[in-house]
Amino acid sequence: MTTEKRDYYEVLRVERSASIEEIKLSYKKLARTYHPDVAENKADAEIHFREINEAYSVLSDHDKRAHYDRFGHAPPSGGGFGGFGGSPFGDMFDLGDIFESVFGMGGMRGGPNRPQRGQDIKETLQLTLEQVFTGTERELTVNTYQDCSTCNGTRSKPGTKPTACGQCGGAGQVKAVTRTPFGQVIRTAPCVACSGQGQTITDPCEDCKGAGHVFRKKRVNVKVPPGVDSGNYIRMSGLGDAGTNGGPPGDLFVVLEVKGHEVYQREGDDLFLEKAVTFTDAALGTEVEIPTLEGPTRIKIPAGMQSHTTFKVRGKGLPSARTRARGDLHARVIVMVPTHLNEKQKQLLKEYAGAGSQEAQGSNGRSWFGRIMDAILG
Ligand SMILES: [Zn+2]
Ligand SMILES: [Zn+2]
Repeated sequence: MTTEKRDYYEVLRVERSASIEEIKLSYKKLARTYHPDVAENKADAEIHFREINEAYSVLSDHDKRAHYDRFGHAPPSGGGFGGFGGSPFGDMFDLGDIFESVFGMGGMRGGPNRPQRGQDIKETLQLTLEQVFTGTERELTVNTYQDCSTCNGTRSKPGTKPTACGQCGGAGQVKAVTRTPFGQVIRTAPCVACSGQGQTITDPCEDCKGAGHVFRKKRVNVKVPPGVDSGNYIRMSGLGDAGTNGGPPGDLFVVLEVKGHEVYQREGDDLFLEKAVTFTDAALGTEVEIPTLEGPTRIKIPAGMQSHTTFKVRGKGLPSARTRARGDLHARVIVMVPTHLNEKQKQLLKEYAGAGSQEAQGSNGRSWFGRIMDAILG
């Protein structure tokens, strides 16, 4: 919860000079991350999602963006922007409630200048299965908002001071008198003109355009232990956005995403793969090589093996993230039926089919069967 509306550029994690394409791209990325349908922390995501949409509705509109660049969150004189200024809601509404419901502000508890913790940042890190197996160290470039070093976050041009807001006399709050069927209600609400700050920046800092913070890319080294899975995250304390008014920085959450693998499928710490063998190998039995994450190993195919039989290779799965104990590797062996047979092979298979099972398995069936196999195997 913030008592002050965040800077729209900060919300969308773009620079003030960002093109409309950059804004759109960043908006899409953030909307995906914070969409309440996919996010883990629904309540938190909903607040973010609303904030992102509001920022995008302004920054994607040329006129609204130009106005925002000049005046920030203050409504244009004459009202209309976001419905504030004048009393578009009539006398029946309590101004405090309108602010709470529209801005999501819990009033101005603690005053506008109280220290605020910086925002948490969420970054996604993609990993291959091989990296999950060994653990890895990766460098991430993270976009964070840091205090502007020119004005130290004060938003005013060095050497100048903000003046008291003319609208609220520096209180940051205004008294709103409303008539209701139950009588007159007097409530205080944050001053719209100064966003509850009580001050007007008359000479904004040129480097941050009066925002008090600047957008900066930061390189972060992330150590990923072995055995992690998609959806796991690594919390890096203090590596999020800078706090305001001396508040602590937010945290960086690195959300892990394990990419699919062309050979293995993963289920927990176990790995699954499919291995194709010829039907002659399945019938006669053999030994085949299968890959593991540590190099190839061999498994024995017994004679007369049926297709889709699964063999377990103990301890050749992934290490558990908690105990480091290894999962198993499961090899599902698929029997392939040849699609192209030459005339000799066809003839022998027809003989085999005609001979019937009794003869095929009889005392001299073995050598006869072997001739078919030789022919098929070439
Ligand atoms: Zn500055
Ligand atoms: Zn004011």
